[in-house]
Amino acid sequence: SAFSGNDDLKALIRTIPDFPKPGIQFRDITSLLLDGAGFSVCVDRLTALAAPLRPDLIAAVEARGFIFGAAIAKSLGVGVLPIRKPGKLPGARVGVDYALEYGTDRLEMHAHDLQPATRVLIVDDLIATGGTVMATVELIRNHGGVVAGAVFAVDLPDLGGAARLRDAGVETLSLMAFE
Ligand code: AMP
Repeated sequence: SAFSGNDDLKALIRTIPDFPKPGIQFRDITSLLLDGAGFSVCVDRLTALAAPLRPDLIAAVEARGFIFGAAIAKSLGVGVLPIRKPGKLPGARVGVDYALEYGTDRLEMHAHDLQPATRVLIVDDLIATGGTVMATVELIRNHGGVVAGAVFAVDLPDLGGAARLRDAGVETLSLMAFE
């Protein structure tokens, strides 16, 4: 679960009501990214959460996961596996379809980029319902990887995504929670 503290970072996250639709409180990390000291501290703390999970590779989820995932990977000296929306990756690719509130979506990765038993840490900016990250877990496990855990800047615990991930056996850590 999110540990207490990190109120300094929480203060850098802007809340925009009714985006992208009425009733959603959008937790906007762009205000944190704009603050050089804040972003640096955030990446250091995410790296401290990630290191004990001993990842061999960071799976960074398009698009905001790329920003945090690449920075953590650089800190740990490991590589990045981009998890992408359909039609973006140029090589042979594998994918997983997953349900949204209305309709379905799909995530893809390059088919030959996971050596068997590679410990993969999933990184995204925020976990809400967990649909996106559960699909990423499935993709990694279906192609021989071991999910080392999942790390987020922000958790929205009321939406249940972190609990879903833990039920699927994924160690799930985040810096900040918004109720
Ligand atoms: P989910 O699959 O429901 O866990 O959420 C998918 C993605 O939607 C997350 O990676 C976030 O980037 C984004 N997202 C969902 N809800 C919010 C929110 N309230 N504020 C900001 N981003 C959100």
